[in-house]
Amino acid sequence: MVYRVTDGEARVLYLLFPHLRGLHLDQVEDLGDSVRIVARPAAETAACHECGIFSGQVHGRYLRRLHDLACGGRPVTVELEVRRFWCRTDGCKVRTFAEQADGLTQRHQQRTSGLRGVLEAVALAVAGRAGSRLAAALGVLVSRCTLIRLVRRLPDPEFGLVTVLGVDLSGGPWQPSVTSASVAGTAV
Ligand SMILES: [Zn+2]
Repeated sequence: MVYRVTDGEARVLYLLFPHLRGLHLDQVEDLGDSVRIVARPAAETAACHECGIFSGQVHGRYLRRLHDLACGGRPVTVELEVRRFWCRTDGCKVRTFAEQADGLTQRHQQRTSGLRGVLEAVALAVAGRAGSRLAAALGVLVSRCTLIRLVRRLPDPEFGLVTVLGVDLSGGPWQPSVTSASVAGTAV
């Protein structure tokens, strides 16, 4: 069943889906075991990903399907009408670019930023099949391989300056005579 969204209903939906505030919500469809939201960005211009200059000259439009956070245990899909803009900035190597919705979309991603964050947290806690089962319980279908890929793509955590480095060799099979040892010093 398809529901056309009025302005008042959109305000209620923004309460439930605050990450969609930057969009015009046109339709919500109840598909039984999932929910589909049809929307389009509210901003009239978008920034080129290369030079950062905003453009309002529309080159074309296309539909982008995004997997979003589940609602009430049901998967949610956002069908977003995305515009492609001209970039007329002198010296910019980009001719046209697709707009991104702040806090919602990223280039070449089929999941919203929110869903991606949840899956990364799941993958870091329990990667593999256990993570896939946990995600399913949260209303998100994802394979164990995808969870592993998400972890691999995460940037390495930043560490401060290493001032003391220790090595514990106790019980190591390579030096059975050594029960404990450590190396300490200032990193260079
Ligand atoms: Zn540009």
